Amino acid sequence: MQIFSPLRPIITCLALLAAIAFASTATSHAKPLNVVATTSMIADAARQIAGDRAEVKALMGPGVDPHSYRQTRSDIAAMARADLVIWHGLYLEAQLEEFFFDLGKRRNVVAVGEAVARDKLLSHADYDGRFDPHVWMDPKLWETVVYAVRDALIATDPDGAATYTSNAKAHVAEIKKLTDYMASVTATVPEKSRVLLTAHDAFSYFGRGYDFEVLGIQGISTESEAGLRRVEELVDTIVEREISAVFVESSVPERNVRALIEGASARGQDVAIGGTLYSDAMGEPGTYEGTYIGMIDHNATLITRALGGDAPEGGFQGKLAAGS
Ligand code: ZN
Repeated sequence: MQIFSPLRPIITCLALLAAIAFASTATSHAKPLNVVATTSMIADAARQIAGDRAEVKALMGPGVDPHSYRQTRSDIAAMARADLVIWHGLYLEAQLEEFFFDLGKRRNVVAVGEAVARDKLLSHADYDGRFDPHVWMDPKLWETVVYAVRDALIATDPDGAATYTSNAKAHVAEIKKLTDYMASVTATVPEKSRVLLTAHDAFSYFGRGYDFEVLGIQGISTESEAGLRRVEELVDTIVEREISAVFVESSVPERNVRALIEGASARGQDVAIGGTLYSDAMGEPGTYEGTYIGMIDHNATLITRALGGDAPEGGFQGKLAAGS
């Protein structure tokens, strides 16, 4: 027998509201937030800030080039499940831009690199009208990106605001110490050796922030007249400035670097390969270089030592340990 009660619709409504409230509470506390980031640097920032509140997946692992990366089927599946998708923007993920613009109409998608003020960005020779996207190379700029990651997490999961705010503050404090370390060690590199010859064009913000001239050896070929002239120019620079090291990446043919080293050697200037710098991806997960701090410390310490400056034993960590 059905008894009509005027209260019944209200009770049903309240029960529904309670169910919704329970469901959203369960999502924010019991189950970690599902975050997908494009680069390993952005994923590191999200992990530092979110702690246990999020599971963070990076689409691009060690050695992956974000400029040419295209989304895989499993990336698309991961992003479809994500509560928050974070990408860099500034045309870093050039092949994914259309995809993210489209995804942003339906999903929670944030481009954190775009948070950096335009007047702090450098232009990019290869991309007319666009900016150089490699802002992580200067930790002072990266702080802005870290705060943008924090804000994206808070907007997605307001219950975690206090956690995200305090973790971001602690991470930025660490980044500021790293910035001080970089300034102090790179300052020991002799004035005329402050030239960074690298394979990739990723180091312009590092050069601007820490007073190095950055010259690219990417794309030089000894098989054309223009290529040979470029090698000659670079050899002149190496000899005049007494540059003791060039930095390579696995993507650059060894013979082009050899031409530089042999050219300089013939004129009495010994040049070594200074080592491998991390440019667009961090090192292996689980290692120190597999964190943002470790990656930037590795680069600054390696560059300093290879160009005749002094860096403490153990780099940034060594300095922190000695100071405490
Ligand atoms: Zn790059």
